[in-house]
Amino acid sequence: MSALIGHAAIVRELQALAASDDPPHSILFAGPDSSGRTALALEYAKLLNCERLNAPPAAGASLFGDDTLSELQTGPATLGEPCGECRPCRLISERSHPDVITLGPGDTLCRPRDGESHAQHADSRDIRICQVRGLIDLVAKYPFEARYRLVIIDPADRLYREGTAAHTILKTLEEPPGHTVFCLVTAAPEALLETIRSRCRRIDVQPVPRSEIEAGLVARGFDLALAARCAEAARGRPGQAIAFAERPDLMDIRGRLWERCARLAGEGTGERFRYATTLAETWRKDRAGVLNELDVWEAFWEQRLRDGASEGASEEDLRGALGALKAIAQAREDLTTQVIARVALEYMLLCFPRLASVAVEEAQATA
Ligand SMILES: [Zn+2]
Ligand SMILES: [Zn+2]
Repeated sequence: MSALIGHAAIVRELQALAASDDPPHSILFAGPDSSGRTALALEYAKLLNCERLNAPPAAGASLFGDDTLSELQTGPATLGEPCGECRPCRLISERSHPDVITLGPGDTLCRPRDGESHAQHADSRDIRICQVRGLIDLVAKYPFEARYRLVIIDPADRLYREGTAAHTILKTLEEPPGHTVFCLVTAAPEALLETIRSRCRRIDVQPVPRSEIEAGLVARGFDLALAARCAEAARGRPGQAIAFAERPDLMDIRGRLWERCARLAGEGTGERFRYATTLAETWRKDRAGVLNELDVWEAFWEQRLRDGASEGASEEDLRGALGALKAIAQAREDLTTQVIARVALEYMLLCFPRLASVAVEEAQATA
């Protein structure tokens, strides 16, 4: 069974890249959270490191003549899937390969300067300069055992970007050592420095069709009814669908959030501001929770747009729903940059049109 749901075209692209003479050393996977970006980066890690895919040519290859031989020797000649069974494949799947490292906000690779007293920062929201120092150190060394070391930077838009450390990262992306590959993962590619973006091969990770997600869940052993519900609620993101399938209570929580969105869409400014303040307070301790609420809002307005289009809603209604969707995208971007969370969220709520009434059954049926 493939570890991936959907994204067949991207997988083919990664196969071709990994099998080429000079596989790219910096790839930017741009797409929403849980859409499959990390799974694709891990697939690339396997393609580069699978023992069976990258086995040296068998003895006796010289029978085919010198040309073929030299072709075989210059690199992985097989375009194919990683075996999934060799040691690198297994370790990568289990996320325990010593040379496949994920660098994100927290303490990973934290390397204080000599003599510096340095508190731990497991809850940090940024990838700090001490971690960038650790990364630079790591990249200078050879991998423990892999053909290619893979560093997944997630989310890349939270990477420390000032001073010499950032400059060194840029140089490394520009002229990476032959044994290290960077996979930058982000939902907000425009928040990355242009100089970083331009050094990466960019892969846009698009939503996966619902039927593919449903089939992927069934292939993982989930029953059909649950798979269908999860695929619907995940809105194109396989990772989210798997999370729902493993914890169906998350979908119930989502149903309650949906009801609240429906109620708030009928409220005026006062209620909306109170809600924005609560959401901004939550943001300080539970970013994922807030992003999840934005996601429900997005589903809510998308649903209005779809229903409106099929039921002949007024142009004003449709424009209102479109404006709301734009405001959500803007809020997401603002939250990843330096905008104050409360301001970003208040602005978003103000952009939502006020609805006369929203049937809650509609919510129940789709959430
Ligand atoms: Zn393998
Ligand atoms: Zn540190």
